[in-house]
Amino acid sequence: MPEPQFDDLYRELILDHSRRPRNRGALAGATQHVEGVNPVCGDAIALDLAVHDGIIDDAAFSGQGCSISQSSASMLTERVKGRTVAEARRVMDRFRAMLIDGALPDRELGDLEAFEGVARLPVRVKCALLSWNVLQEGLDQATSAATGGNP
Ligand code: ZN
Repeated sequence: MPEPQFDDLYRELILDHSRRPRNRGALAGATQHVEGVNPVCGDAIALDLAVHDGIIDDAAFSGQGCSISQSSASMLTERVKGRTVAEARRVMDRFRAMLIDGALPDRELGDLEAFEGVARLPVRVKCALLSWNVLQEGLDQATSAATGGNP
């Protein structure tokens, strides 16, 4: 069996975000700072979120690792900026369903559909999901802070 190939357009998108990551850096006004690693591949992601009144006003990331992990984080920040925490959680659920359960990409995913091919590369799924696992931790923290520790 030959190695499954990404659609060319999607491969370009992933490479573009990997070469020119969006929202890279740290946020001076971050309300949440969360980090995660994928030791299998050596990927590391740190995510800064500025969450106010249930809205993700700003998001930025830093990190190192393979192109899948870095481009996934870059697209994540673009996708969740300006969204509510609930919307971000929904996108996160759809993204995971696509990668873990092989669910068809949802319209809500937008450009994140580019990672659909990763579902066929089990060793890379962890790379694509790393920043989303970090995001979940950040959103959980933000939710918990907003409710005074009583979710
Ligand atoms: Zn990786």
